[in-house]
Amino acid sequence: MAAKRKIGPLDLYALLPKTNCGKCEPGVCMAFAARLAERTISVEECPPLFEKGQEANLEKLREMLKPPVREVRIGEIRVGGQLVVRRHEYRYFNPPPLALTLEDTLPEMDLLKKIKRVEEYGYSYIGKTLKLDMLAPRYVSGDPSRFEAAVKKASLSKLPLVLWCTDPGVMEKAVSQVRDRRPLLYAATRDNWKEMGELALKYQCPLALYSPFDLKTLKSMAKTLWSWGVQDLLLDPGAGFGEELKETVNCFTVLRNTAIRGEDQEVGFPLVASVARVWEDGGRKPEELAWEETALATILMVRYADLLILRSEEVWSWLPLLILRENIYTDPRKPVSVDAGMRAIGSVNENSPVMITSNFALTYFTVVSDIESSKVPSYLVVVDTGGLSVESSIAGRKMTAQTIADAVKASSVKDKVKHRKIIIPGMAARYKGELEELLGFEWEVMVGPRDSSGIPKFLAENWK
Ligand code: SF4
Repeated sequence: MAAKRKIGPLDLYALLPKTNCGKCEPGVCMAFAARLAERTISVEECPPLFEKGQEANLEKLREMLKPPVREVRIGEIRVGGQLVVRRHEYRYFNPPPLALTLEDTLPEMDLLKKIKRVEEYGYSYIGKTLKLDMLAPRYVSGDPSRFEAAVKKASLSKLPLVLWCTDPGVMEKAVSQVRDRRPLLYAATRDNWKEMGELALKYQCPLALYSPFDLKTLKSMAKTLWSWGVQDLLLDPGAGFGEELKETVNCFTVLRNTAIRGEDQEVGFPLVASVARVWEDGGRKPEELAWEETALATILMVRYADLLILRSEEVWSWLPLLILRENIYTDPRKPVSVDAGMRAIGSVNENSPVMITSNFALTYFTVVSDIESSKVPSYLVVVDTGGLSVESSIAGRKMTAQTIADAVKASSVKDKVKHRKIIIPGMAARYKGELEELLGFEWEVMVGPRDSSGIPKFLAENWK
């Protein structure tokens, strides 16, 4: 898989039918090519490309659009598919799933409790519920029947599975139970790669290769297995903290850079960070190991891990990863925004305050949460600032007296309240006079706090 030069719309347009037939959503070929280059549409959405005579162009397009890091499906989750090393060069795809290990030494009740905990955990963050994604039954007992039982328990959950076992005989019994779930077989090593490769082919499952801090062996295994036809591979170059941290980061960095910038087909696969391995350094306090695991996982999430396997059951160790993932796996070209318009927060009535904010998602949800904690039901008029925060939108002239006035007029707030007062963010204080004028001096404009955390105090003191 050779390194790819950046594909532009013109390269893609040359291979499209160029008839502007209107059968796709953009309707014209040039706009379709631009969307293809942005990866916001797929070749499947151009029906004429599937007509007789277009086969060669279709194949060329598919080849051009293939990401240098292969996309692999585990259950219903897709991993990898990356186009760039650094997020700001374009964007990252497929947020890395977080899998939690289920050691087969756990008593049955504890195992079931852990599965339930993973399934039920959710954290609300800017309008989404952040969750863990996978279960990873792990063979540590030395008793194949225990591993089989752990896999059986895990398979009762709908979450995708990673089967962590390096004994091919034990793995086969487990994978034969759950082959329809397309679990990840973790892992082939320098000692078992042949048998594990055969299992991956037989059961049509993705296979992870593990070769700690030895990229030469990792690459050689990938090359051989690929030539056998095992193409859905993932690579684990080892994960360690302390003295191994530098080498860990180095291996991940070399693999991703080589895949995307280099000329190396053998390493163009998603990367697995088996950070649960820090727990193998026994004799230390669990909270210390959980902290190390989290620190290592955050580093590797930034440094290209496409799947992370964790062991800690502590919410405080999951949370930074969930938030970090949410922040780096968004499209940096598109601010995260909410729809503009009016919202009622709580059981509003005709005396409720009317506040103004921007449609940047983080700002919006913070303001909503601050209004809720004030316990004063309020109307909130959200101005379309192009997804920018209040401060940036004022600096960039997206939030002006005019845009606020337009938002107030477009909302039905005038019919909802009997008073005529609106509260603008403290940072927009300079618009007070102009805004009152634009609203025909019908509304009194009050200047709220600069930071929305001051809303409860502001309302307590100013809204009787
Ligand atoms: S469907 Fe295909 S041929 Fe038709 S306009 Fe869209 S890109 Fe062009």
